[in-house]
Amino acid sequence: MMENQYSDRCRDFDENYKLVTEKLCKAAEKAGRSPQDITLLAATKTVPPEVIHYAIEQGVTCIGENRVQEFLEKYEALCSTSCDLQFIGRLQTNKVKYLLHKVSCIQSVDSFKLASEISRLCLRENAHMDVLVEVNIGREESKGGILPEALPEFVDQIRELPGITVRGLMAIPPDCGDPAQLFQYFSSMRQYYVDIAAKKLDNVSMDCLSMGMSSDFPAAIECGATMVRVGSALFGKRK
Ligand SMILES: *Cc1c(COP(=O)(O)O)cnc(C)c1O
Repeated sequence: MMENQYSDRCRDFDENYKLVTEKLCKAAEKAGRSPQDITLLAATKTVPPEVIHYAIEQGVTCIGENRVQEFLEKYEALCSTSCDLQFIGRLQTNKVKYLLHKVSCIQSVDSFKLASEISRLCLRENAHMDVLVEVNIGREESKGGILPEALPEFVDQIRELPGITVRGLMAIPPDCGDPAQLFQYFSSMRQYYVDIAAKKLDNVSMDCLSMGMSSDFPAAIECGATMVRVGSALFGKRK
């Protein structure tokens, strides 16, 4: 490794990556699942491209950004890598245009208006977008997402839109500090995911259940997450 201003952060990453990978494998094992069936998405907000590049060299295959502006600033530095780029943050309809042809998936679709705009632009730009439906599992006013009871109808509505494919569900549960409650949230998500998959709807393939972050990803894996989004546990605390 070259010694430079990022050396410390890269060394920290090495240690963190090992720990996160161990925890991921352990949780998978506990649930009788293969670690290979769980994608580790590195949430890279505030992380400089140099450190992201290092993470990719060490084996990270998927990264997620949650602000359009920051994503665009880093895009030139990241687009040449083989890493899968996804968008995980709240998205305003007027910013969808910046993501087409640049990310493989928008994980935060939570309104018909947003889904329609993604679809409209995909058609116009000859693009395609995979989307996850964000579920407001804790019914929090401060968070985006579709309420659980509205989920079946919402999925049914947006699957008709051309240019997009519904690939699964995403959630950010409340920061509740109660493990039993957390398991409840994650298990409910898993149930919604299974219920929708069972309908075998056209243009809907439930193959991504994105839930679990630094503080709770092992629990999410035990409850069936196929993707965990981990930031600070990999890159250190954000300032
Ligand atoms: C930042 C972020 C994460 C990762 O959060 P950590 O607690 O740092 O692991 C996951 N998902 C979304 C949508 C985020 O914005």
